[in-house]
Amino acid sequence: MVKQATIVAPLKGVTNSEFIRIAPLHHPKTKVELKDLGQDADDAELIATPLPTAPPPPHLVYNHGPLIPQVKVYTIFWGKNWKSAPAFVKLEQNINKFFKDIVVSSLIDQLAEYNTPAFTIKHGSLSGSKVITANAPGSIITDAVIQQQLKAWIAANTVPAWDKNTLYFIYLDKGVTVHMGGGASCTAFCGYHNHISKKDYYAVMPFPGCAGCLGGLSVLNAITGTSSHELCEAITDPVPGTGWYDSVHGEIGDICAWAFKSVAGHNVQKEWSNSMNACV
Ligand SMILES: [Zn+2]
Repeated sequence: MVKQATIVAPLKGVTNSEFIRIAPLHHPKTKVELKDLGQDADDAELIATPLPTAPPPPHLVYNHGPLIPQVKVYTIFWGKNWKSAPAFVKLEQNINKFFKDIVVSSLIDQLAEYNTPAFTIKHGSLSGSKVITANAPGSIITDAVIQQQLKAWIAANTVPAWDKNTLYFIYLDKGVTVHMGGGASCTAFCGYHNHISKKDYYAVMPFPGCAGCLGGLSVLNAITGTSSHELCEAITDPVPGTGWYDSVHGEIGDICAWAFKSVAGHNVQKEWSNSMNACV
């Protein structure tokens, strides 16, 4: 997979944090040979000389906030297709299978280098799943409305109460655009994770109905790729900016966006390793 060429800047004006990082769209690199541009060897050297303001190499720093030590993923499939369209029902089953497998996999083990005195990252579980069609948005929804709805679901016991290990994953229906932090799904981002008042950790997964969020992958592989990105970020930085964070490059998944590997038969994104100084 081609990695994205640019690091996406943090989104400003977000409801409760300017540190929220989004899973960016896929931007294929264009490959042009220098000779095709009529350039000579001097030009090659000029082009290869780094910018004077080149950003420092990635390194995550711990900012003393919470981690999710033993994640309990609860998936919420919000919209009519998740109940009635056979292809969506199958996709939903595949997403749940992905979580069941991945929260007990090497993808979680590799996060152990980010353990802190108070938090030891261990295998987790898929604690449950629910299809909800009530109040499903038709075309556009904001992050603020998603937060209101999540609070209402928790209050009504539609979904289980939050505890420090709970991470709600909200999958939206096809054709629903999410507006968050001045950007929108499929034009600025492919997914994100957030929190409500430093609890109620959640991730929002719009349906990847665009080339920028499919990145040439199948729908399922694009969804598991983005979901693994948000899963690892939520575990290591559930209140964005207060856990493991790099003030230039963002969270653990942002540094390695659109670089994938296969774990337990699922397409997952590589994650930044401080100890290896690489995406692994
Ligand atoms: Zn991210």
